[in-house]
Amino acid sequence: MPELHTDVRYVKGVGEARAKSLEKLGITDLKSLISYFPRAYEDRRGCKKIADLTVGETACVCGTVASEPRASHIRKGLDLVKLRVVDETAALELTYFNQAYLKSTFRTGETYIFYGSVEGTPHRVQMTNPIFEREDARQVTGRIVPIYPLTAGVSQSLLYKVIRQGLDACADDLGDILPDDVRLAHSLCHVRYAYENIHFPIDENALAIARRRLVFEELFLLTLGLHLLRSHRSGVQGPRCKSVNFQGFYDALPFSLTNAQRRAIDDIARDMTQDRPMNRLVQGDVGSGKTMIAAAAIFFAAKNGLQSALMAPTEILAEQHYHSLAPLLERLGIRCALLTAATGARTRRSVLEQLSSGEIDLAIGTHALLSADVSYRCLGLVVTDEQHRFGVSQRASLSQKGENPHLLVMSATPIPRTLALMIYGDLDVSVVDELPPGRQSIDTFAVKSDYHPRIYAFLRKLVAEGRQAYIVCPMVTENDDLPDERKAVTQYAQKLQTEVFPDLRIAAIHGKMKPKEKDAVMRAFAAGETDILVSTTVIEVGVDVPNAALMLIENAECFGLSQLHQLRGRVGRGRHKSYCVLVSDNTGEDNVQRLRAMTQTNNGFTIAEEDLKLRGPGDFFGSRQHGLPSLKVADLTCDLELLHEAKSAAETLIAQDADLSAHAALKTHVEELFTLTQSSMN
Ligand code: ADP
Ligand code: MG
Repeated sequence: MPELHTDVRYVKGVGEARAKSLEKLGITDLKSLISYFPRAYEDRRGCKKIADLTVGETACVCGTVASEPRASHIRKGLDLVKLRVVDETAALELTYFNQAYLKSTFRTGETYIFYGSVEGTPHRVQMTNPIFEREDARQVTGRIVPIYPLTAGVSQSLLYKVIRQGLDACADDLGDILPDDVRLAHSLCHVRYAYENIHFPIDENALAIARRRLVFEELFLLTLGLHLLRSHRSGVQGPRCKSVNFQGFYDALPFSLTNAQRRAIDDIARDMTQDRPMNRLVQGDVGSGKTMIAAAAIFFAAKNGLQSALMAPTEILAEQHYHSLAPLLERLGIRCALLTAATGARTRRSVLEQLSSGEIDLAIGTHALLSADVSYRCLGLVVTDEQHRFGVSQRASLSQKGENPHLLVMSATPIPRTLALMIYGDLDVSVVDELPPGRQSIDTFAVKSDYHPRIYAFLRKLVAEGRQAYIVCPMVTENDDLPDERKAVTQYAQKLQTEVFPDLRIAAIHGKMKPKEKDAVMRAFAAGETDILVSTTVIEVGVDVPNAALMLIENAECFGLSQLHQLRGRVGRGRHKSYCVLVSDNTGEDNVQRLRAMTQTNNGFTIAEEDLKLRGPGDFFGSRQHGLPSLKVADLTCDLELLHEAKSAAETLIAQDADLSAHAALKTHVEELFTLTQSSMN
């Protein structure tokens, strides 16, 4: 279907400038143009009589211009055009802002359709800037109208027009990607009908039919893609391992492992002795002890003469992993090295040398561990901490690097099972659903900001008992692309120091600091040299300070539920009773519900389910996080049934045609979908 790849600037009414604006929406060719789906619809069918309008509703009326439009210039940048229209029941006052040309557009005695929200009083109804068109040339009224997400330089009416043009231009070229038998078996409409009616539905029914088909297609392709990814990896030979006796490892630990930890380690040992490379996700709540599971896997690899790379999402975390793992592993004869941006040039050179000669068994760092200049003698295991920063495509790029190491992915973001099914479709999953013994739940309170005096008093009491506290404040956004986290954090820390706790030791940390500075602040806090750490979410993942007993989160409404849960997981990591206080003056229903969920449970899986209900799967499912194609039409909170249907259809197809060789077009399409996602990632 080469026509579908026609550049969008050749679509009638587009041209160079508009093509640039459209590109911001991801629209580059005909295909992406017609795949730019509405985010909502407005029912502009049927006109109301003016006398029947109620203030506050959005409605269509058919009105005749009753008086010459009056233009007035209020001041620079503010021009008004006012006119009055009537139908046989009543009159309606219209005001247009800054569209002076309208004065000569509307002519007395002509009839137009107006669509807008009704203002004024029941006896004197008004509309401001209503959409209008002539009664005899109706396009954007008299029907269900698509509403598209916009960007600067792209209006609804432009999108409306060019998508109409686009559909007309390529309707005949729209080949159906779904095999006919699949389409028929699941009563799905033809692709052409689907595209036409997702944009310009003739009625609700047509829209539902179109949407059903597109959701199915999306989920079907996704399932196929995941299958291909998985089978690609299962076709390769991984570094095969012999079984290893873990006793030496267990004996070196200061505690005994939980059953859940042991189960995960068993899963890993089983995977690593198979022919194909391991591809396993370990999912467990914060504090469930995933690091030790990783250590066991590293031990297993080292005993088999294989090197490991442990990647953390941030430098702080990499360093912390290094400091907590290296002493244990070195005692077991495993040689560890830390490799981050902060590593000096000389050390770096020597680490690189020792990695390629095999003198080092474990490299700990960030994603840079997989960059081109790092070569290993025999990389057998890659562990990534915090899956949500490490997508499918990075996993895929590993094998492209010519290595097929075992992969172990650790995530503290519990994913609802229904989503895990899709997101981790190419991974095996071990669930660590048990916390080490002696963990207490973290008492959580949601309060308004007028509680600050009490919170501060409580904080002071904890510090007097020898504990430490985190205070997290969200970034202050001065303008959209320049979030000033530095300011938010340092100002708050300063204020606390001068006005509230002149006698306590307060430090601030934020993402704009150099790794070295961050590290120093974090180290001081971990060593108990600071009482209060004021921070942005840089502490969100992983950093372990067992003496910290209070997590105070300001403007809690700015954070998602899962993020709040992650933050809370920074306390309660030692033997001290710990607390989380969420401060928010926002009384919006969503926010109240979210904070309530936090006070009611400490269970990450429950929180994740709740988050899914409140916010939808967008956050879990964005391509930024997982490297999967994002879902354009499907909404996994309400399309679950279709998900199962699409998944079973995909599985049926795979059973007949495992590598999709008999469905070449479909295969190309799926591959495109997944590589597109990969190339758009950085
Ligand atoms: P997470 O799953 O959040 O990564 P960690 O691996 O950081 O959790 O473990 C949290 C804390 O619990 C660490 O201080 C670790 O030493 C400790 N820990 C891990 N496993 C056990 C265990 N079986 N018994 C007691 N403490 C444990
Ligand atoms: Mg961890």
